[in-house]
Amino acid sequence: MKNEEEQPSTRMRSRVDDEGKQALTGARTLKSTRELPEAINACRRCSLWKSATQGVPGEGKAPSGLMLVGEAPGDSEDLQGHPFVGPAGAMLDRALEDAGMDRKSLYITNAVKHFKFEPRGKRRLHVKPSAGEIEACKWWLEQEMRLVSPKLVIALGATAARALLGRVVTIAQTRGSALPLSDTTDLWVTIHPSFLLRIPDERRRRAEYQRFVQELTEAHRWVNGN
Ligand code: SF4
Repeated sequence: MKNEEEQPSTRMRSRVDDEGKQALTGARTLKSTRELPEAINACRRCSLWKSATQGVPGEGKAPSGLMLVGEAPGDSEDLQGHPFVGPAGAMLDRALEDAGMDRKSLYITNAVKHFKFEPRGKRRLHVKPSAGEIEACKWWLEQEMRLVSPKLVIALGATAARALLGRVVTIAQTRGSALPLSDTTDLWVTIHPSFLLRIPDERRRRAEYQRFVQELTEAHRWVNGN
């Protein structure tokens, strides 16, 4: 009798343990990018979920010939739950528009899905994700790559490039050349749009912005021609 009474709770514990293990290992395989918000909010593969408001999934067209990958959500993204909606997002939108592109025609995500920050008074200052956090979150980036199946991925900044290539690279080393990610997908590396916001000299900022728009224009042409 005692055994029979224990069975349901044992079963329940085992189910909870299994779910816990899946969350910890990120064992969930997605069938659609629509499942991403719920899945990343249940993710415990690293500790960034603890202090963030919510996970920020990638958004846009899937499948899509072009996928943009940034670093991680910032303060605005963390509060709103959408990628590239803060000042860097406004800069990216402007550059996409100047390159003749519609944000809805591509897929945009980040290498890491939860906001990492340091409190400074009332502000939350962005902190770069660690190598371990980038590696832990790669599970979701790889699933997005599979579901979006892009011909071209643009890494916006060194953190995104590191996540996609699995090694440290600099923008200067890799910018301007195509790197194969697979038989069907190439990678281009460029700056993160937040870099443009930090250039104090206006002439240099304008020149860097033009170069960024030129890269997006070429990417758009390349995807449409391949
Ligand atoms: S940052 Fe990525 S790996 Fe870490 S908890 Fe969030 S979704 Fe999971």
